[in-house]
Amino acid sequence: MTEHQHGKGTSFVRRIYLPRIIGLGIGLFSVWAALDSVSVAPWVWVLLFINGLAWPHLAYQIALRSRTPYAAERRNLLVDSLMGGFWTATMQFNPLPSVTILSMMTMNNVAAGGKPLCLAGLLAQGSGIAVSIALFGPGLQLHSTSLQVYACLPMLTLYPLALGAVCYQLAIKLAEHKRALRTLSCTDSLTGLLNHGSWKDSLQLKFHSYRQECRQAVIAIIDIDHFKGINDTYGHVVGDCVLRQLGAEIKRNLREDDLAGRYGGDEFCVILPNIDVEQAALIMERLREKISAYRNDQLPDLRISLSIGLALCNEAFDDPVSWLDEADKALYTAKNSGRNRVSFAAERHTPGFA
Ligand code: GH3
Ligand code: MG
Repeated sequence: MTEHQHGKGTSFVRRIYLPRIIGLGIGLFSVWAALDSVSVAPWVWVLLFINGLAWPHLAYQIALRSRTPYAAERRNLLVDSLMGGFWTATMQFNPLPSVTILSMMTMNNVAAGGKPLCLAGLLAQGSGIAVSIALFGPGLQLHSTSLQVYACLPMLTLYPLALGAVCYQLAIKLAEHKRALRTLSCTDSLTGLLNHGSWKDSLQLKFHSYRQECRQAVIAIIDIDHFKGINDTYGHVVGDCVLRQLGAEIKRNLREDDLAGRYGGDEFCVILPNIDVEQAALIMERLREKISAYRNDQLPDLRISLSIGLALCNEAFDDPVSWLDEADKALYTAKNSGRNRVSFAAERHTPGFA
């Protein structure tokens, strides 16, 4: 079993621990009250107290110390069911405590292991009943006294409460994991910005909303100059650091509503809403200057420069891809006119929307 599976097993064991302490602890009273009316050997009482008070802690230790905690805990749950069946037959099927114990255990098995554990649990309960009948013979005690009824009340009220609380915590954890997974699936792991797919999805949404609301917006495509050379000279680890630094610098320089993503390789894309080209150029110029002023004491010769292409959203674009293409052309212009500059294909745009 891998470390990961081992960890998964132990959280299952820990989740079951408290409900078992509560369930068997208060179940003890239901059985106690019912056993009082049938005479049983002293060792049966000892077994009852061991089962009710010591077994939850023993089961927990057994499962935690096991090499396969999950499987060990499932075995423990079957022991619970076996003992439940045993007590049911030993108290001669006294109706209320029997139904209480068997139904609570079955509910627990369904919650912990679904249909397979439920069925295995029923088999274990049947085996427990068979063991008891083999030891003490069959018996039927179909009348529950009021003491026996009251002794079942804590089990009937507290145990579902404990199990419900555990299930609720599990649901909360699941929702948290789902949220974290969704964030992870949208995030570029190196820079923490949006990844390619997620940024393009956002572009699609934003493009249509800007058109509907007649809002101005600019796309900036930022590309590191001669990044391949940086990788070749200093290695990919330094290359990764440069990408991370640029990602962080982009985040620092943007406004709250700006949407930045790593488009791929050394190329980053930003959507800047509610802004004209001059303002966008100013922001990008500031970013370009900051990056070109970057110095590293350990790598004194390392220089980083950026080429940036800008495109204003305009009514001539049928779809967001045309808008992105326009920014790409502006980037191409920046690269071809000497790099380390911000470029905007001014002749191709008409400001704002009609
Ligand atoms: P230009 O000035 O024209 O932009 O040239 P360039 O060298 O920056 O561009 P090119 O597209 O030739 O090279 C990009 C390089 O980026 C090639 C690839 O090995 C590298 N690269 C892509 N993804 C990563 C990454 O995650 N980490 C590192 N370190 N390098 C990457
Ligand atoms: Mg490049």
